[in-house]
Amino acid sequence: MIKHLKRKPSFLSLLVGVLLVLLAVIATLQYRWLGRVSAGERELMQANLRVKARSFGEEFDREISRAFTIFKMDADTLRGENTNSEYAKRYDKWVKTSENPQIVKNVFLAKASDGGRFQLLRFNEALRAFEQIEWTSELEVLHRRFEQRQTSKSETGAIFTGGTDSIVEEIPALVYSIVSDTLIDSKTNYRRLNWQHPLGYVIVALDLDYIKEEFFPILAKSYFASGETLDYNLTVTSRNDVKKVIYQSDPEFKDVENSIADASEKILNISFNKVKSYSSERIYQTPKSPNQNKSDFTLIIPAMKDDEAAADKILLLDDGGHWELRVNHRAGSLDAAVANARWWNLATSFGILLLLGISIIMIVVLSSRSQKLARRQVEFVAGVSHEFRTPLAVIYSLSENLAAGRIKDSRQVERYGATIHKDVRRLTEMVEQVLEFAGAERGKYFYDKNPVNVGQLVEKILTANAPLLRESGWHVEKRIEPELPPVSADESALERAVQNLINNAVKYGGDSGDSRYLKVEAYRATNGQKPEVEIAVEDNGNGILPAELPHIFEPFFRGEEATLAQIHGSGLGLNLVKQIVEAHGGRVKVESTRGRGSRFVLHLPALAAGAASLNPPQTSEVI
Ligand code: ADP
Repeated sequence: MIKHLKRKPSFLSLLVGVLLVLLAVIATLQYRWLGRVSAGERELMQANLRVKARSFGEEFDREISRAFTIFKMDADTLRGENTNSEYAKRYDKWVKTSENPQIVKNVFLAKASDGGRFQLLRFNEALRAFEQIEWTSELEVLHRRFEQRQTSKSETGAIFTGGTDSIVEEIPALVYSIVSDTLIDSKTNYRRLNWQHPLGYVIVALDLDYIKEEFFPILAKSYFASGETLDYNLTVTSRNDVKKVIYQSDPEFKDVENSIADASEKILNISFNKVKSYSSERIYQTPKSPNQNKSDFTLIIPAMKDDEAAADKILLLDDGGHWELRVNHRAGSLDAAVANARWWNLATSFGILLLLGISIIMIVVLSSRSQKLARRQVEFVAGVSHEFRTPLAVIYSLSENLAAGRIKDSRQVERYGATIHKDVRRLTEMVEQVLEFAGAERGKYFYDKNPVNVGQLVEKILTANAPLLRESGWHVEKRIEPELPPVSADESALERAVQNLINNAVKYGGDSGDSRYLKVEAYRATNGQKPEVEIAVEDNGNGILPAELPHIFEPFFRGEEATLAQIHGSGLGLNLVKQIVEAHGGRVKVESTRGRGSRFVLHLPALAAGAASLNPPQTSEVI
């Protein structure tokens, strides 16, 4: 039977092996595939992010460029009488057409007066006119620069002409020079712009608080959020001073200086394209100038014609912007986000594969178990029929002889009676076992638990077995520890369990002769902190084959040697012992050495020590 059992798992393990190899191949393919998917996903995310960063920058710069275009002023408007009303119209246009008019905090006019001085006027929206004010500390930087330029002899120096040149980051403000032009040649209408001494400047002061607290968050939400929260951390820094942080979407986020952001974009620029689209004046982009690799463009004021303007170009350099928008994924970086997503994908798909693997193994194990059980049941039916047939045949013929009155000798009648009694007892035991097993299997077995005195119980069982044991020459030793605590048990069930162990010891415990030895013990023990009572049944028989040890408590299991030697049995005894003990919250353990014998121990939880029972003060004794 054992050989038969061993052949099956090898076929099954081959099947499991093949399936597991298949799973490993699928896992490898999945791993590679997910790697490729992640790389693709990363590229896509990167490209999307760049587009979003650009759109953010363009939307912001569009507002800046519109403010610049609407509020700039030419010499005629400044000199004319309708400066205020003209400007009020512009102001209305700005408020009407801009989506975020609040980005402009104030519009100032710095007007050149005698001696290279400048007076400051502020446009009052309520009065719809410029009113003179004192130079504020905020604008002092510009005041000094204007005066320096007015008195300097040099042609070079800061001129506010457009592009990033017209942005003063410190305030921040947009500045436009109002310059006069002089007619040089009436025939060609050639005019020269007087950059050296502008008539004045328009200063459009931006509201940095509004930009930081309202405008940037609105833009961030529309480009970088899914739902309510931002998927990315946004940082705006000054390009002149990288450490100067202008805006941060998450104040906790540390944008590592000089680290490569997932995407970056230069912003805060008056860009040519935008000025062109918002300006009523004619603007042309020049070819790339040989001295600079940036493209520049020409703004031609209305009084000039295209071909006449060559000598007086106003360069609007388009070199990107004063600020830099840096975008990093919330996970740290795009790479980290993709790696995260990849990890999750791997974890889920490998989890599914693992489940699949476990299911395969479980199906194989369960089917092999149920096969084993079915085989045992068939063997059990065959074995039990045989077990029944032998004693029944004996009883049949002996009782027939007795009934026919063929046996007259009273000693012979006694022997016949004893044999019939022994066989009936064997049959009863087997029927009991089968019925009990069937009941326990269906969960119908109920135990009526009461405090049981284990010492007395063992005593009772041994007394009942004593005549038979003595007759067959068994050397029985008992050791019952005095003052054993009681256990909560169904006494008759516990008795059956101990009786089964004694029966097994008798069946497998040794050949005939003096070597037949049985030891039954009951003593106190502990399981961790919990008190226990242990009942041990020990024999010095042949022991159990190590390969069979893990199976002896399975239902219908019969040892190879027991089957070969035709020792009667159903393979249910130990399973019932296990079921009974476990139903009492205990466990059964076995130690067995080939050639030395076996020791079965029932561990039963003891009731409170206070309920100690009165055992006879008895120790080791031979009966
Ligand atoms: P059965 O005795 O009817 O075969 P059990 O469930 O009581 O069924 O025992 C299962 C098997 O365990 C036995 O067939 C035998 O091989 C082995 N076994 C049980 N008790 C002993 C023992 N005391 N010594 C050696 N083998 C034992």
